[in-house]
Amino acid sequence: MQTRRPLINGKHRKQTNPIKGRVAFVAAATGVVSTAGATGAAIAHTTDTGISEISLAAEDTPNAEEGAPQILDIAEFKPVSNLQDQLNKAVQYSNDLAKADEEARKPKISVSRPTDGILTSGYGMRWGSLHAGVDLANAIGTPILAVMDGTVIDSGPASGYGNWIRIKHDDGSMSVYGHMETLDVKVGERVKAGQKIAGMGNRGFSTGPHLHFEIHPDGNAAVDPVPWFNEHGISLS
Ligand SMILES: [Zn+2]
Repeated sequence: MQTRRPLINGKHRKQTNPIKGRVAFVAAATGVVSTAGATGAAIAHTTDTGISEISLAAEDTPNAEEGAPQILDIAEFKPVSNLQDQLNKAVQYSNDLAKADEEARKPKISVSRPTDGILTSGYGMRWGSLHAGVDLANAIGTPILAVMDGTVIDSGPASGYGNWIRIKHDDGSMSVYGHMETLDVKVGERVKAGQKIAGMGNRGFSTGPHLHFEIHPDGNAAVDPVPWFNEHGISLS
């Protein structure tokens, strides 16, 4: 038994050399086929010529095969075909960013309702002349509030208004308040939106206790306060 074993081993060893060589060849051929398959069918028929040639083709050098420039063409064409679309999106995105940035930089304008009261007369022609504001009726002494931050430029008697207060706001607009019974602020005083500036009255050209209110967005021309307040999320009616 012990004498046969070295014999078998020796015989077996002799046989392994040619077998190993064949196995190595098959493995190389399989590797070539799979590599060629990944690169393209055009390269597959050249596998018989040799491993070195095939591995060169597999590296996809541009001039190695006719198919290679075609593949490059498609790769280059794709981004160009939607470049305009990409540019449009980029421009749109940039515009959106700029707009959002502009909005963020704007000082937050806080607007208050000027008083609690019933809208008894709107903006428009009345008795042959322009009623340049709105009338909000309530009891004498009802708090009158500054609609926005600003500086008091008038506080005292005025023709037709009985008493008036005018506030120049930081955005260049002006608000006007009329017929007040009491005045709580002086000319030059800084006021905050929602701050009490007066008490409702029935002074001047008035047929009952109410606030006459005007808004001049550009500082010297009154507009209808109802849509102006609506734009700031406040309903007067
Ligand atoms: Zn009025």
